[in-house]
Amino acid sequence: MIIFKSINKLNKEVNFKANIGFVPTMGSLHKGHISLIKSSKKICQKTMVSIFINPSQFNKKSDLMSYPRNLKKDIRILNELKIDYLLVPNAKEVYKKNIKKKINLNKKDKIMCAKHRPGHFEGVLAVINQFLERLKPKYIFFGEKDYQQLYLIKKLINKKFKTKIISCSTIRDKNKVALSSRNTLLTHNDMKKSSFVAKLLINFKNKLKKSIYLKKNLNKIIFEINNLKNIKIEYLEIRSKNNLSKVFNKNNFKIFIAYYNNKIRLIDNY
Ligand code: AMP
Repeated sequence: MIIFKSINKLNKEVNFKANIGFVPTMGSLHKGHISLIKSSKKICQKTMVSIFINPSQFNKKSDLMSYPRNLKKDIRILNELKIDYLLVPNAKEVYKKNIKKKINLNKKDKIMCAKHRPGHFEGVLAVINQFLERLKPKYIFFGEKDYQQLYLIKKLINKKFKTKIISCSTIRDKNKVALSSRNTLLTHNDMKKSSFVAKLLINFKNKLKKSIYLKKNLNKIIFEINNLKNIKIEYLEIRSKNNLSKVFNKNNFKIFIAYYNNKIRLIDNY
């Protein structure tokens, strides 16, 4: 594995005519990231991973400061996976002079996380736009764990880039909690509550699949989750998985949640 700290250097040394798969991450790698990397290795000749904690997507400085960082361990994991290139750029190079730190969203996309974390996806789109403009990989990989992110990046890519986007399903632990770098900030007891939330919503989803009219029970579910100690829902919504609108049927819906577990913000979808 070759490690690059500069996009310019990587650009000079890597042949992007090869079939390259790109997996952008913020590090603290877990089995969710690893599944994306394995998908890339399956269909691409070369796999490139980036680790970049993108400051422009954090709408709270404290969240950026406390975001987990584990570069040494990440390098060990990536070495074992035998990927080809690791890019660890610094913010100064990513956001050189005149480079936009934000890409605006349409008004109709300002829902769920886009509404509750103003500026977040604007920052995500800006960094992915930078990477794609400068690296031009054949494939890019994203997880369905961040479904709204995937939806917005798909729209950006379809409008501007030739890169093909591949989505990978959410990897969960044995207690159904979606793997997330932020889980390292939770205690064992917090994780038990996240497991309760996940199982409750998976069960609710299965019921909705049989009879969608049970969506009327959403408020009861919200009440039940908010009743857990130190848990506070930011949003819990059912939407179409095709266009995230509130028009859906029993075959095309998804349940989306963002909540605070002991002050750590978590998201998931089912
Ligand atoms: P992050 O490091 O959180 O920015 O995530 C990097 C990529 O890994 C994104 O495309 C995420 O959607 C994906 N990812 C994160 N957690 C999971 C998971 N539990 N299962 C599958 N993909 C994931």
